[in-house]
Amino acid sequence: MPSLQLTILGSGTSMGVPTLGCRCAVCASPDSRDKRTRPSVLLAYAGRNVVIDTTPDFRSQALRAGMDRLDAVLYTHGHADYILGLDDIRPFNLKQNGAVPIYGAPETIAILRRQFAYIFDGVSSESTLPMIETHAIDGPFELWGLRLVPVPAMHGPLPVLGFRFGRAAYLTDFSAVPESSMPLLEGLDDFILDALRYRPHPMHSSVEQSLALVKRLQPKRAWFTHICHDLGHAETNARLPENVRLAYDGLQIGVPLTEVSL
Ligand SMILES: [Zn+2]
Ligand SMILES: [Zn+2]
Repeated sequence: MPSLQLTILGSGTSMGVPTLGCRCAVCASPDSRDKRTRPSVLLAYAGRNVVIDTTPDFRSQALRAGMDRLDAVLYTHGHADYILGLDDIRPFNLKQNGAVPIYGAPETIAILRRQFAYIFDGVSSESTLPMIETHAIDGPFELWGLRLVPVPAMHGPLPVLGFRFGRAAYLTDFSAVPESSMPLLEGLDDFILDALRYRPHPMHSSVEQSLALVKRLQPKRAWFTHICHDLGHAETNARLPENVRLAYDGLQIGVPLTEVSL
């Protein structure tokens, strides 16, 4: 059975952990799993590398993961911590001698056009610019035989997309999942989802809210990501149900690519 290898490139909140200037126990922790870069995942399958989001840590994440090519980028939304590494795809443009296709909701593509106007303005430059090919997501799509199903959710007042692929799903930066998206998250083996901290937050799911979602959807395993410095890795895991763990940078999850019709 073909399979996909998912790597957690980053598991931290927008400011990362350690958080600049903070000397709390988690920021000072010697446990490497308490060192969290900004949230992103790598999907490696069929000789291709697809990343979800390009964080400000994209370069170091790609180095750590040993990424030797980049075939596509999917964007969940246009917040700074999810897009600011886009400029760092240039070595892959040069190596592969071509543009990298990027996929996002139309509003996310519009944000990229504003934030990275120099990529889009057509002004000739002596500098190396990222080469991209934009694709607006308007429903499920296929990349090299992998069906990717966008999962709409809300991130405070902002729409955001998660992605379902086979029996796994990735849903970061959300505060609410509409009923219409629930069927897209059923029958999962692995569910990687936002759980910022214990205390509620208007833009993010808390540990309690994410546990309630896991209880309802019953994935075999759940992995919390987008974690802030309130949650120490070992102590939080000790308090979570057996099938729910904190993700950490570098974690790899094998996803069998069985036929799933959605
Ligand atoms: Zn701290
Ligand atoms: Zn966000």
